[in-house]
Amino acid sequence: MSVATHRHLPVFKTRFSTRMIEERVRALGREVTTHYRRCEEPLIVVGILTGSFVFLADLVRHIHVPVQVEFMGASSYGNETTSSGDVSITRLRGFPGRWARTNATGRHVLVVEDILDTGRTLQEIQRLIEKEDPSSVEVCTLLNKHREDALAEAKWVGFRAPDEFLVGYGLDHAGQYRNLPSIGVIST
Ligand code: 5GP
Ligand code: MG
Repeated sequence: MSVATHRHLPVFKTRFSTRMIEERVRALGREVTTHYRRCEEPLIVVGILTGSFVFLADLVRHIHVPVQVEFMGASSYGNETTSSGDVSITRLRGFPGRWARTNATGRHVLVVEDILDTGRTLQEIQRLIEKEDPSSVEVCTLLNKHREDALAEAKWVGFRAPDEFLVGYGLDHAGQYRNLPSIGVIST
């Protein structure tokens, strides 16, 4: 391969290493466990697809109270790197009109998100969950862009995200890079 071609290959620049993520996720799991240790029924942990699947898988293994894992599909980005402003939420297949196998009434719900940007996705999701009158709804996000005008907040945040488009550890660009074990930016 010529040097000229090589120069155009995407380069990954690490922002959060596997080690940093591991340590932070373990600490978040401890905090979540402490917060919900007196829950009488299993905590409903809702992952927002697709980006949160890696984080959720690691996080739940550090939560030492009974949990019920559910996923909700949400997308606002399509293949773009800027928010389209529309949030579409998919429901659970085989459970018409529902987002979880059970009703969330009187239950504690923890929404797990990969990254909080405008907060539009989370705002919509919280609205949907609150319709079922749960005991509580909290958010745990791995990354937070900390925008001043964000429409939602998270009780637990892994890291403050730089103002860049991040990929890896579940985060994609046009469907790619979710399998990278660390988080970073792609530059060409
Ligand atoms: P919000 O609705 O808060 O604007 O957007 C949240 C969603 O946008 C996240 O769940 C994620 O899918 C996507 N998103 C926001 N910022 C980034 C980013 O830097 N990288 C990637 N891959 N997705 C992002
Ligand atoms: Mg997402």
